[in-house]
Amino acid sequence: MTEFHDRYGLTAVINARGTFTPLGVSRSTGEVASATAGALSGFFVLEELKDLAARTIAEVTGAESGAVVHCTSAAVTLAVAASMTGVSDSRIAALPDSAGMPGTVVLPAGHAVDYGHPIVQDIRLAGATPDLAGSETACSLADLQERVALPGVACLLLVSSRLARGEDIPIEGAVAMAHRHGVPVIIDGAAQDFRIGQLLGTGAELVLVSGQKYLGSPTAGLVLGRAAPVQAVRAQEKGIGRAMKPSKEAILGVVAALRARQGTDRDEWARQQRDKVARFVERAGGLAGVHAELVPDPTGLPFPRARLGVDPASAGLTATALAKALQTGSPPIWAMTQDQERGNLTFELVPLTGDEIDTILRRLADVLAK
Ligand SMILES: *Cc1c(COP(=O)(O)O)cnc(C)c1O
Repeated sequence: MTEFHDRYGLTAVINARGTFTPLGVSRSTGEVASATAGALSGFFVLEELKDLAARTIAEVTGAESGAVVHCTSAAVTLAVAASMTGVSDSRIAALPDSAGMPGTVVLPAGHAVDYGHPIVQDIRLAGATPDLAGSETACSLADLQERVALPGVACLLLVSSRLARGEDIPIEGAVAMAHRHGVPVIIDGAAQDFRIGQLLGTGAELVLVSGQKYLGSPTAGLVLGRAAPVQAVRAQEKGIGRAMKPSKEAILGVVAALRARQGTDRDEWARQQRDKVARFVERAGGLAGVHAELVPDPTGLPFPRARLGVDPASAGLTATALAKALQTGSPPIWAMTQDQERGNLTFELVPLTGDEIDTILRRLADVLAK
């Protein structure tokens, strides 16, 4: 609940669904919020802010260089554009007309994710053509190589997300294969800001993450990686990147969020998250008709979630009906429902207060008692 919920009659939801864009994604700390607010009343030389972002990203993440753009969706479009144009002014001015440039972007079919819109549209927005390798259930290195070796390939795009489908693809192997063919690699790791080091360690030219997901900055896309492709991303601001530019307040909010991340004891933070989820699981496990357990993040993020398996016979309703009751009650509670057909609801607790967690448990008890 903020002052705005009251003043404008806005719905105050409890978001146990994770970094979900339609619900406002994340909560910034007071420190990040005041850096962002402070930026709004000042004039700045934007190039200086962009250089500050580049230095801060490099220092905090170990990347050679970095840039901030409007969001990760924009970062995908601009990273693809950069792989087609480099820093050529005439090519940058020509996009999205990509005639005469390498224009194919290879990605594993299971990485053609939909995070509210299809990622292949981000590719097409740069004037490139997506080429899906393998099938949704499996894409081998040989499947990828067959496409990467064709003429006219601008880059290989890989997605590190729990939204990706199919068997895991060994990222290091895919990067090495692409490099053998002279093809650069971009990794969309939107919600993977905790794993930047690992993703950069794969050797990919560019790693893209959202500032507003776990990092808790204002909406922003962070582009991290080698200096030359980062420079080519920045150069797009004279072209299609104009519509995807970062604001001064986003840049200063990102810088504050990165500094805060640098000052956080990661192990201690992870321990607190684990304890919070363990307590929730213990309390939810006492409710009739549900089996509660702690489940790790499938992509290796450093916190677990609480999964409730609902037994309709003893609970009196299905997981789907329980999710609906939570979401339509007051306050609305949004859980992760991707597994509801299999009888499971998952709760992400990272941004939630103790009061909000108590409310979820109380509402679960109320609904299950009916
Ligand atoms: C959230 C997400 C995006 C989009 O990020 P924005 O910063 O909201 O544009 C892209 N890819 C994946 C895998 C995501 O999860």
